[in-house]
Amino acid sequence: MPRELQFTGIRNFPSTRDTLVAELEKFSEGDTNGRVVVSVQSFLFRIKNALAMWAKLRWKLRNEGRCFEDRCINLMVLADEMAHSFPHCQTTVINERGVIDIQDLVMQKRPDMLAMQLGSLTLWGWSNIDTAAVENACMIEEEQRRWEQKLASKNDERSESLRRLWSRLYYKDVHCDCHQCLNLYLPFRDLTPSPPLPQMVNYSDSDSLSSLFEE
Ligand SMILES: [Zn+2]
Repeated sequence: MPRELQFTGIRNFPSTRDTLVAELEKFSEGDTNGRVVVSVQSFLFRIKNALAMWAKLRWKLRNEGRCFEDRCINLMVLADEMAHSFPHCQTTVINERGVIDIQDLVMQKRPDMLAMQLGSLTLWGWSNIDTAAVENACMIEEEQRRWEQKLASKNDERSESLRRLWSRLYYKDVHCDCHQCLNLYLPFRDLTPSPPLPQMVNYSDSDSLSSLFEE
C-alpha cells in the first residue's frame, strides 16, 4: 500500500468506521434510510471493501494488537454473507416503493451484532484511547455474557440462528495482547438472559428480544 494512502486511511479510520456503524445501527431499528434491496446490498459491500482496505492498513506499522487483520477478514466474510442473504430473506418486507423495512427482530438483530463488532475495531488496541471502540468492545462482552447465560433451545430455531451468527462474530486471538483479546472489557455484573424470541409473524411483540439490545 502506498505510504500516502496508508496515512490517509489511518487518519480517516475512526470517522469512516463510526459513520458505517451509525448507519448499521439504524438498520437495527428497522430503518434502511429509504434503501431498495440493491442499495442495502451495496452498503454491505461498502463495509466489506472498507474492511479489506483496513486489513492492509497497518502494513509495516507497529503491531498494536495483531488480531486486527483477522478481525477485519472475519467481518468481511460475514458482511458478504449478509449482503447475499438479504433479498432471499422472507422476513424482510419490501414496500410499494421497493424500499426495505426491517420489521422482524431477528433481521434487526443481525446488523446490530455486526455494528458492535465493526465499531470495536481499533488501530490502538493497547490503550483505551479510542473511546468509541472501547464502548463497543464492552457491549460485545455484555452480549457474549447474555448468550452464555441464555440456554440453548432446539425449539427456538430463530434464536439459535442468531447464536450461531454471534459465535462466528465473537472473536478472540489467544496470541494477541490487545485489550479486547486480553479480556479487559469483561462485564462485572451478571446480565439478565434474554427470553425466547417471539413467533416470526408476530412483529408487534418486541419485548422478548429487547434485553438483547440493552447497552
Ligand atoms: Zn487482539
